[in-house]
Amino acid sequence: MFEKKDKKVLLLTTGGTIAGWADDASQPLKYAAARLNGAQLLATLGVSGLALELEEVAQVDSKDMDEQVWRRLLERVVHALSDPQIEGIVITHGSDTAEETAFLLQAVLPPTKPIVLTCAMRPANAMDSDGASNVRDAIRCARQSDAAGVWLVCAGEVHAAHEVFKAHSTRLNAFSSGDLGPAGRVNAQGVSWLRPVNPPAQITDVKTVLNTTTWPRVELVVNHAQADGRWVRALLAWDKPAGCVVAGTGNGTISAALQEALSDAQRQGVRVMRTSRCAQGGVQEDGEAMFENLGSLSFPQARIALMLRLLQEKAQEAKA
Ligand code: ASP
Repeated sequence: MFEKKDKKVLLLTTGGTIAGWADDASQPLKYAAARLNGAQLLATLGVSGLALELEEVAQVDSKDMDEQVWRRLLERVVHALSDPQIEGIVITHGSDTAEETAFLLQAVLPPTKPIVLTCAMRPANAMDSDGASNVRDAIRCARQSDAAGVWLVCAGEVHAAHEVFKAHSTRLNAFSSGDLGPAGRVNAQGVSWLRPVNPPAQITDVKTVLNTTTWPRVELVVNHAQADGRWVRALLAWDKPAGCVVAGTGNGTISAALQEALSDAQRQGVRVMRTSRCAQGGVQEDGEAMFENLGSLSFPQARIALMLRLLQEKAQEAKA
């Protein structure tokens, strides 16, 4: 699998725990994420000799992921997709928001080459560091011609971008695709697919995203016991967003008071959409049409879906 090939895999680094460092290696949970730059990270991975090209996109803890880093990442990925020497792309990323970046890429890019995000749950100098094996698995996936599309590889599992969510805060296999299970598993021979995957259609195209100077701001609101809509009203009074995703309870239900506040927001031009705060199941059609539902995306992914929809609509209006 790892014999030298003419074509290369592009390794884009963004930071995260995979590039993290513990001052005391015997205490691997006390570390700082994104301490290593791209070249330093590559040196710790033990993947030298493989046909890799390295580019550092950012050096951030992914809890701080922002539009600037996403733009840079999209630009580099677009470039690599059109480079015939690059057969696949691996992106090292913090695990905390990896599901968001994966979904963003899937929602705006054509599935022409494998784009594989990977991460680590232990810093680079921990005894049980998982970064190197995750990157090796991600490279295996990125070299597979039947893996065109966006994936997240962690702990030997391959998850589709629109299905994956971070399900555990600390364990090594932190990701899940819920009831569906992973799309595939990676071993030394490459990826064994476990089931077919049908990614949703692109929401917009990457050019439109990169040409839009400021992306629409979409906020997330959660329904919960005692939810009285105050937070939504404060938002409206202070700095009205373009959109709002409400993570409802259960099958997307919303308290009467929050529903009223969100209806007011909608009347004031805020696009409101619904998902569930449950980790699995999403919102199944329930006839409650007040706020359109975003299906089974995780709620951070649903926020991105609405942002991209609004961006696409605005671009279309500008063209008309
Ligand atoms: N906070 C880290 C990050 O997301 C956690 C990780 O990478 O696992 O960058």
